[in-house]
Amino acid sequence: MSESVASGPPAPAGAVWEALGAEIRACTRCDLHQNRTHAVVYRGGERPRLVFVGEAPGAEEDRLGLPFVGRSGRRLDEGIAKVGLEPAEYGIVNLLKCRPPANVFSRSAAATCRPYLDRQLAILEPDLVVSLGAQALRALDPEAPPVTRAVGVPRPKERWTLFPLLHPAATFRSRRNLEMWARDIDRLREFLRRG
Ligand code: URA
Repeated sequence: MSESVASGPPAPAGAVWEALGAEIRACTRCDLHQNRTHAVVYRGGERPRLVFVGEAPGAEEDRLGLPFVGRSGRRLDEGIAKVGLEPAEYGIVNLLKCRPPANVFSRSAAATCRPYLDRQLAILEPDLVVSLGAQALRALDPEAPPVTRAVGVPRPKERWTLFPLLHPAATFRSRRNLEMWARDIDRLREFLRRG
């Protein structure tokens, strides 16, 4: 089978989810659609208890139409394996559904794109939302302290608990970040173990 959006793992079933995915893939609400190969909607189980929220698709994600399938995705997948999550138990989405030029995150595009994230989370209804990096943390909890202080500490919210992590890409920038990531992956495993 050729590599494409069609070869991704199963996504949540249901007409509302399917219609939302189609709407995102056809979206022209901001300029980012002009350069995309694929809009990136979701990868994960049909009824995930935990949803990871990243920032924006990179080159590999744009090429394949799936979130976190490049270098950062391999780091995230390693972390997920350490936490001990089964594929059906988690899902992955991004704030931005289309790759920004030169991978520079755009706050204005994120504001335009935001309703898609809110609709995805409303359909998925996870118990736990894991923000990946400062942009996702700020978007999901504007009151949160800076990301390096917030990481690894659960933040109960109305509809779910927010669990902030560094962005996996940060782990390639310094040893300190890698150690922080490993510590917080352990904390996430422990948090889930305690239920
Ligand atoms: N970084 C993100 O934030 N999201 C992706 O999908 C890939 C890299």
